[in-house]
Amino acid sequence: MKYPRLLEPLDLGFTTIRNRVLMGSMHVGFEDRSARFDKLAAYFAARARGGVGIMVTGGFSPNREGWLYPFASKLSSPGEVAPHRAITLAVHAEGGKICLQLLHAGRYSYHPLSVSASAIKSPINPFKPRALSERGIRRQIDDFANAAALARDAGYDGVEIMGSEGYFINQFTCRRTNRRTDAWGGSVENRTRLPVEIVERVRKAVGRDFIVIYRLSMLDLVDGGNTWDEVVYQAKAIEKAGATIINTGIGWHEARVPTIVTSVPRAAFTFVTERLRKEVRIPVVATNRINRPEVAEELLARGACDMVSMARPLLADPEFVRKAASGREDEINTCIACNQACLDHTFSMKTASCLVNPRACRETERSFLPAVPARRSRRLAVVGAGPAGLAFSVEAARRGHAVTLFEAAPDIGGQFNMAKKIPGKEEFVETLRYFRRQLELSGVTVKLGTRATADELLGFDEVVLATGVTPRMPRIPNIEHPKVLSYVDVLLHEKPVGKTVAIVGAGGIGFDVATYLTHATHAHSSTLDAKRWLAEWGVDPEVHAPGGVEGVARQESPPTRKVYLLQRKKESLGKGLGRTSGWVHRAALKGKGVEMIPGVSYDKVDDAGLHITVRGAPRVLAVDNVVICAGQEPLRALKEQLEQRGVRVRVVGGADVAAELDAKRAILQATELAASA
Ligand code: NAP
Ligand code: SF4
Repeated sequence: MKYPRLLEPLDLGFTTIRNRVLMGSMHVGFEDRSARFDKLAAYFAARARGGVGIMVTGGFSPNREGWLYPFASKLSSPGEVAPHRAITLAVHAEGGKICLQLLHAGRYSYHPLSVSASAIKSPINPFKPRALSERGIRRQIDDFANAAALARDAGYDGVEIMGSEGYFINQFTCRRTNRRTDAWGGSVENRTRLPVEIVERVRKAVGRDFIVIYRLSMLDLVDGGNTWDEVVYQAKAIEKAGATIINTGIGWHEARVPTIVTSVPRAAFTFVTERLRKEVRIPVVATNRINRPEVAEELLARGACDMVSMARPLLADPEFVRKAASGREDEINTCIACNQACLDHTFSMKTASCLVNPRACRETERSFLPAVPARRSRRLAVVGAGPAGLAFSVEAARRGHAVTLFEAAPDIGGQFNMAKKIPGKEEFVETLRYFRRQLELSGVTVKLGTRATADELLGFDEVVLATGVTPRMPRIPNIEHPKVLSYVDVLLHEKPVGKTVAIVGAGGIGFDVATYLTHATHAHSSTLDAKRWLAEWGVDPEVHAPGGVEGVARQESPPTRKVYLLQRKKESLGKGLGRTSGWVHRAALKGKGVEMIPGVSYDKVDDAGLHITVRGAPRVLAVDNVVICAGQEPLRALKEQLEQRGVRVRVVGGADVAAELDAKRAILQATELAASA
C-alpha cells in the first residue's frame, strides 16, 4: 500500500473514521434561502462513495444573529431538521461520516442584527455589530448547544464548531475584536471562556458518543491576533472541555496574507498543526493547500498531524481517496487552487463548482451524470488540445465515441503551457498530467505536431474546433518596432526581455507577465519554498508576534526588472481579477515595485521607449521592451472551410468566444457539449 498512513483508520473510542481524510467545510450555495438538500445529498454522497473518511458541511448558524446574511443557512428549530436527513442518509449509505458545521458569523454577518464581543466594525463588512451583554452571550451558548442537539437528531455523526477565520468565537478569543472588561475579555482565560463554555454545553447536549470537532485559529494573521502561547492555552482548554478533534484554522477573512490561493506553497501552514500536536492528546487536523496524496502521507508520516483536511481537492476529484488507495494517484484531477469556480462563486452568491471538474455541485444534472454511453458511436475529430479540446475529447471518448485529437504544437495544453510558467502557478502542470493520463485511459488518438487541414477532416462525422486564440495586437503607431513582444513571445518562446519593461494591458495575463518578469527565477522549487514564502509575506513562523504578523516586516526579494503595468481604463488595475485572488496579485506586484498606471492612451513606440499620455500629460517610458497583453482574438478559420464542404462543426472555448476567455468556461462548455455528442 502506497499511502499506509493516509488510509489508516482513526479510532476515536466510540467510533472509527475509515481513513485520515477529512473533507473541510465549504459553502457551496445549496445551503441558503431556497436550500437544495437533494443536491447537497448527491454532492456529499459522491465524495463518501469516493472513500472520504469524514466530511464537514458548509456552515449553519445556530441562530439569526449569526446568519452570514439574511436567510442564510441556519439550524435552530426542530422544524429545520428533517431536510438534513437526506444528506446524512445518503452519506451513511455510502459508508461515510458527516458532521454539521456550526458557524456563527458575529461581526462578519451581513445584516444589521449582527453581534460580537465588542462593537467594532470589520474592515470587510459595512455593518457594525452590537456588543453582547452577559445575558446575550449566555443565549448564544444555549443556541450552539441547541443546534448541536438538532444536528444529532438529523443523523449527523458530529458537529464542527467554527472557532477560526475571524468569525464570532474568534472575535472573542482575540484582543483585536474583544475589548471587554468583564469575565469574557482581557486575560487569555477570559477570552477563552466563550469557546470553552460552548464546547462544554455542546458536549452535554450531544452525549459522549458524538464527534465534536473544534476549528481552532492557530494563526490569526492579523494584528491583535493571538500569540503561540495563547493558542496553546486555548487548545488545552478546549480539549479539556470535551472536544474530540482539533481542526486547524489559518487566517481571518480580513487578513492580508494569502492562505489558500495557488501561489501559497503546498502545506505551507502545517507547521502550526505540527507544533500543536505536541501539546494536546486529541487528534489534530492539518489544513490549507494539501492537494496530493503524497503530501498528505508525508505530513502524517512525520507526525505533523493525525488527519489531513482537504476541501477543494475533493471538489476537484470526489474519487481522490479511492484513486490513491488503488495506486491510481496519476488519475487524480488535482485542485490547482485557482478559486475561480469555487470560492469566487461563493463570494458572488453563485453556486460553487470547480474549474477542472465542472461536474462538482452538478451531480444531479443530466448532462453531468458520469459518462452516459452514446446511443451511437461516431468518429469525432477535435482540433486543438487546450483545456476545451482536452475536456471534450476525454468526455466524448468515455461515452464511446472514436475521438482523434489534433494539435499543431508538439505537446498538449494550449494556454496552460504558459500559465504553468508563471511563478506561483506551478499547479497547472497537474491539470496537464491529469488530461494526459485521461487521454490514454479513454483511448483518444492524439496527433501532436499536426496542423489539421479541412481536407484531412472530411472523413469525420463531426469536427469540434477548439483552436483557441491569437493575441490581439492593438493599433499603436509603430507597434512593429523590434522592442515590442507579445505575451506568447515572452512566456512560450522565452524571447530575451530587457531590464525595463512596459506591459500594455492589465488583465489576468498582464498581471501574470508582470509576475513572471519581476521574479528572480522561474524554477518551481524556489517559488514553492514555504519558509521563504512566509518571510516574503511577513509571517513569523514562531508566532511570537500577535497573530503571527504584528510588527513583522515583509522580506521581499528584490525585483529583477523595472516593470510598468498599463491600462486604458481609469479604474485601479486588477479590478477584473478573481474576487478572492485579485488582491493577492496586486499586493505581490506592489511588493515587486511594479508601477501600475491606469487611464493611459498609447501614442507610439520608438527607440526611446513607449510614449503614453496620462490625464492629458505626455510621458515617455524609457523601456527596453513593450509586452502586449491586450486580450485575444478567436482562431476559427477552419469553421467556414469545413462548413462549405458540408462538415458538421462545433466551436468551443476561446475559439468560440475569445473575450473573457478562460479555462473555467472552456472546460464547462466542452464537457456539456461532449455529454450531448
Ligand atoms: P483581458 O482580461 O481581456 O485583458 C486585456 C487587457 O488588455 C485589459 O487590461 C484591457 O484594458 C487591455 N486591452 C484590450 N484591448 C486593448 C487594445 N485594443 N489596446 C490596448 N489595450 C487593450 O485579457 P487577458 O489578460 O488576455 O486574459 C484573458 C483571460 O485569461 C481572462 O479573462 C482570464 O479569464 C484568463 N486569465 C486569468 C488569470 C487570473 O489571474 N485569474 C490569469 C491569466 C489569464 P484596457 O481596455 O483598459 O486597456
Ligand atoms: Fe480547486 Fe480551482 Fe476547482 Fe476551486 S475551482 S476546487 S480552486 S481547481
